[in-house]
Parts: sequence; C-alpha cells; structure tokens
Amino acid sequence: MRPSILYPLFAPIDTLTGIGKRYCVLMSNLCGAKVIDLLWHLPSGLIDRRCNVPLSQAADNKIWTGKVRVVEHGVPKTKKQPYRIVVEDGTDQLILVFFKTFGDSLTKQFPVGAEKIISGKIEIFNGNLQMSHPEYVVDAARPEQMPLIETVYPLTAGITNKMLNKQIFQALERVPDLPEWQDERYLAQQNWTSFRQALWTAHHPQNFADIEPNTAVRRRLSYDELLANQLSLAIVRGRLKKQKGRALSNAGNLKAKLLQVLPFELTTAQKRVIAEIESDLFSDYRMSRLLQGDVGSGKTIVALMTMLNAVECGFQAAIMAPTEILAEQHAETISELCAKIGVKTALLTSNVKGKARKTLLSELAAGNIDILIGTHALFTEDVTFKDLAYAIVDEQHRFGVKQRLSLSQKGNLCDVLVMTATPIPRTLVLTQFGDMEYSQIDELPAGRKPVTTTVMPLSKINNVVEALARKLQSGTQAYWVCPLVEESEKIDLSAATERFESLQKIFGLEVGLVHGKMKEAEKNAVMEEFKQGHLKLLVSTTVIEVGVNVPNATIMIVEHAERFGLAQLHQLRGRIKRGFEAGSCILMYGYPLSEVSRSRLNTIKSTENGFTIAEEDLKLRGGGEVLGTRQSGFNNFKVADLSVHGDLLLTASKDAALILRQDPNLQTPRGQALRTLLYLFEQDEAIKTYNAG
Ligand code: ADP
Ligand code: MG
Repeated sequence: MRPSILYPLFAPIDTLTGIGKRYCVLMSNLCGAKVIDLLWHLPSGLIDRRCNVPLSQAADNKIWTGKVRVVEHGVPKTKKQPYRIVVEDGTDQLILVFFKTFGDSLTKQFPVGAEKIISGKIEIFNGNLQMSHPEYVVDAARPEQMPLIETVYPLTAGITNKMLNKQIFQALERVPDLPEWQDERYLAQQNWTSFRQALWTAHHPQNFADIEPNTAVRRRLSYDELLANQLSLAIVRGRLKKQKGRALSNAGNLKAKLLQVLPFELTTAQKRVIAEIESDLFSDYRMSRLLQGDVGSGKTIVALMTMLNAVECGFQAAIMAPTEILAEQHAETISELCAKIGVKTALLTSNVKGKARKTLLSELAAGNIDILIGTHALFTEDVTFKDLAYAIVDEQHRFGVKQRLSLSQKGNLCDVLVMTATPIPRTLVLTQFGDMEYSQIDELPAGRKPVTTTVMPLSKINNVVEALARKLQSGTQAYWVCPLVEESEKIDLSAATERFESLQKIFGLEVGLVHGKMKEAEKNAVMEEFKQGHLKLLVSTTVIEVGVNVPNATIMIVEHAERFGLAQLHQLRGRIKRGFEAGSCILMYGYPLSEVSRSRLNTIKSTENGFTIAEEDLKLRGGGEVLGTRQSGFNNFKVADLSVHGDLLLTASKDAALILRQDPNLQTPRGQALRTLLYLFEQDEAIKTYNAG
C-alpha cells in the first residue's frame, strides 16, 4: 500500500552494499533497520580540513592539512621505538610518527623526495611539530582525493565514522525526487529547498553552524515531520468525529440535586469545562476529549457531574483509575454523593471476587448499576454493561494514540473523556493528544494552602530527621520518598527497605513501607493504616505519586530528588496540598549535582504552577521524559525537537486543519503528495482511514 516510489527507502539496510550480518545488527541498534532510518541519523559534527596555513603557523592540537615533501626516514632501532618520517613544506619541518608500523609500507608510501598532501592532528613536542598517524595521505597530484570536510555522525562501538559516511551516502542516492507536499508559497517564504535537497544538505554540513537544529534545511525536515504528525492526528480526530455517537440530553434534575448536596461551590473553571464536555455529550458524534487539571483542581466532581447526563438518559457511565487505591478513593467520593441523589454506583477491582463479583456483573448487565468505578481492567476484562454511554479514564496520559483508538472502539457508541493531572505543555498536547479535543481546569478551589519547598544536600539528612521527629511528635504525618534508580527496580527496593529500617530504628513502629513490588492488597493495607493515622511516617518508592488523600500528612521528604522528573516532583508535592496545615516539602539531593539538575530543582522550589514546571521540564529534558513515557510508545520525533521547533509545530497544526478543510480526502495533487509524506513518516494509523473508505 506504500507508494512504490518509497520502496527503496523502506528496504532493509542490508540491501546497501557493504553491510554484513554483524554490522546490520549494530546499525539497527544505532539508528534503525531500514534505509530511511539512516537518513534520519543526522550529523552531530564535522571535521574541517580546509584550513591551509604554512607549517610555520600550524597550531597545537588542531587538524592541519597541506602539501609536504618527504625529507628522510628515521628507522627505529628497537621495536618499542616509533618509526619517524621528516617532511617539510618550505616554512618548517614536521615529524610524522608511526607506532607499530613496518618500514616497508612506509618507504613505499613516503619515498624520499615525494610530494604528498597529508592531514591529521598537530602536536608540538619539545618545540617540534609532530603528527602521529596522519588521517589522510594522498598524492600531491591528486588533491581531489583529500576529503576537505568530513561529516561526523553519532556512533556506537563497532561502527566507524568512515563506514557510516559511506552507508549514508548510498542511502542518500536512493532518495527519489518526490512530489512537493508543502505549500509552494510557504516554501518560498521560508527559503526552503526541496525535501531531497534538504536531506542532502543536512548530511553535508560545511560549517559548524550547519549542524544546529535551526538551519533552514533542518527546519524544513522538522516541519515535514511535524506536519505529518499533525495531519495524521487531525485525520484520526476527524474519523472519530464522523462516527455517530448518541446525543445525551441535559440531566437537569440530577445535576441540580447534586449541586444541592455538594459542600462547596464549583469553581468558574469547573463550570466552564463541564460546559465544554457537555457540548460534546449533547451532540451526536462521539466524544474524545482530554481534560487536564492539576492535582487537587477538582476533576472528580467534573467527572461525576457530566456522568449524570448519561444516567438521567437511562444509560450507564464508567470511570477508571490507574490503581486500585485510586479507584477506591474515587468510589468513596462518588458513591457518597450518589447515595444522596439516588444514583446507583459500584466498585469493581480485583478485590471483588467470587460471588460478590458475579452478582455485581449481573447487576451491571441488567442495568441496575448506573455508574461503575474501577481500574483499567474494566475495559480489558469480560465486563458487560447493559448500555455504556460514557467512559472516563483517569490519569491515562501514559497511553498512546493507538491505545486510545482501541479504547473508544470497545464501548458501543461510547463517549470518552481522558483525565490527567500531569500538566502537559501545549506543544506536547498538540503532538500527543492532537487526536482529541482539549479542556483545562486552570484554577484551584479557594483555600488551598501553599507548600514551602526547601532544597538541601543529602549530607544534612540528620538535621532533617531531627526536625521530622519534632513534627511527628506534635501529631503531623509525613511521606518519605526514596531514591529512584532507573535501571533497576530491585535497587530501588533495597534503598527503600534500608531507609525504612533505619527510620524505624529511630521512630519505632509507627513507620510503614510501600513499594511497587508489593501485592495490591498489602499495599492498600499499609496505606489504610497511614490514612487512619496508625502510621506516622510512610516510606515509599514512587508508588504514592498518584496516591491517597491524607489531610493530616503535610510533610514530604524526597531523597535524591535530582533523579526524579519535575512532573513527578510536582505530583508528589501535590499530595501535601490538601492538608489541615501548610505543607513542607524537602528535596534532598546527592553530589555531584549537574547544572541542569540544579536548575530543575530551583524551578520546583520557585513555583507551584504545574504548567510553568512542565514547560521548563520540556526545555531541560525531552518530551518523553516529561510524560514519563520514554519506553512506552511515546512519539519520539526523528528530526524535530520540540524545545527548538515549537513555532513550527503551531504552524503545522494550523496547516493540517486548513489542508483537511480544503481537501478532506487528500485527493488534490497536493493531497496525494501529502499521502506520500504520511507514509514517509510512517503514520500508518491515519493512512488506514483512507484505505478503509
Ligand atoms: P483532582 O483534580 O486531583 O482529581 P479531586 O477531584 O480529587 O482533585 O478534588 C480534590 C479535593 O478538592 C477534593 O477533596 C474535592 O472534594 C475538593 N473540591 C473539588 N472541587 C471543589 C470546589 N469547587 N471547591 C472546594 N473544594 C473542591
Ligand atoms: Mg483525581
């Protein structure tokens, strides 16, 4: 189905000459297994051999290139000594030094009196100019054989730059002339060349400035990639919109009742997003919407208010949380309110077993349960609703576009709302959630207490423990989060266990431990103890990141905070914002602390605004890390870099919308070219839309 013009680019790399089996594996690990992957492997530097000064002006530790005459050979007396050849250029002498090299080959290569052009790094040794093992030696009569500029690529053990240059050169030769998919006027305005020319230029930098991300050619290629991304998401979004859903009507009665029993007024932001969600629910297309709101911004009530629309129409709604603890917390809030207004709810987790589970499922199938609360297992397991009209997925930012598509296909005609507390920078919303509509709660309920954040070295841990002892004595509860060791959960665990044991020695039995390796039930039991106040201090790995609401816990200590993502730290700190008193967050760091880590910790210290933090995090680290999805299908761009090309993304987003308005089926000549672009960037999901209909 891929246009045949692209076949040579999507062929495996071993179709290039000079790539054997072993090399093939190394290359696939370095950049990918297809020819086109080589083309996206852009240079990271260059070696410039153009500088052509007389030897008398040659500088230490710099590449020197020039014509020399061979003066004499210094044959070593022992094997340990190097072989020396003296050459000169009329201004000075240079000694070429060869280790472990046989005289034979050298006398052949450098006959006395011959003229050669050589290139290599100059060293000044005892006042003499030296060059060990020149990198290039060519006959003076064949200057064209000296590569004046050598492109440098990111490498891996077993692959040399020379080899890679050769392979990439071959790959470049395979790039066909493709029909232009960009708007001609925009191209002219940006001063951009054709795709093929841009690729070629990107791989032939002439100056160091040419390997910067903001050169015209890299911007063109990035724009191609971003347009492919935005176009594909817009196509998917359009497809979802075209699917008929059903129009719910306004649950005037139930909502009015709920508002009466709510102990607070909705914030303006909550009211606004409820209206936004309802404009989807009341229309007859299927909703696919992302709701973003910081920890504590009150998403649960928004979820409940909007679910009542399904209930009053006689349908069912479901809300899914990422962990059982959170599902239970939702269930607590929701069922308490629902009981007061006559709406039936149920909680389904793995703890509901045997007969209870059977009864629940049959009640659900009979339509006697209006709102089902549970974990994501709700969707995968054999759970049948009588008529599910609306599904809400909480904290689901770790899911990609593909998973969301399959999700919305499960419920029949089901509207889907995805809620997340991870503040996502605008650029990432566009690239990761561009297939969805978007709402944001940008205001916290009144009365939230600020948190004081302190950053200090781990060496002061004893002071922290002393201060903590006083606070615990006065009745406050605290979290202690242990270092994250990315490579291994085992090490995580042993660090947490050790800390737990040492703190238990100090504080006695009122210390609990939770970690990711515990069974759900054990974990819940410890959490419950903490919630009840029987445990004063909860030591954990990051499992409490999205966790329980304990108003009496207002202290958060994070060990090796420099190893955490900013979004993670922000979430952790969110835990102590709902307390009875103002919170205190202590971020302890280990040495050495890099500049980047220092400025990240300062960001956290200086603001509580999740969006500022997220934007800052995106600047300092890649997008995958901001979302915590580096390993899980996060869309990593091949060329584009959102911290530099954010402006292009916004343009691409508008461009994609305009294109689809004018040519919804991509049938004009430009539309056809854009299809090629989608294939080029492997946007298969979107392309299937056209092939299917
Ligand atoms: P999150 O967005 O993190 O899921 P929740 O929905 O759990 O936030 O709400 C956090 C807390 O704020 C809950 O205790 C909830 O009852 C309370 N809350 C929600 N909306 C408001 C409001 N408008 N005014 C006051 N408190 C509110
Ligand atoms: Mg929540």
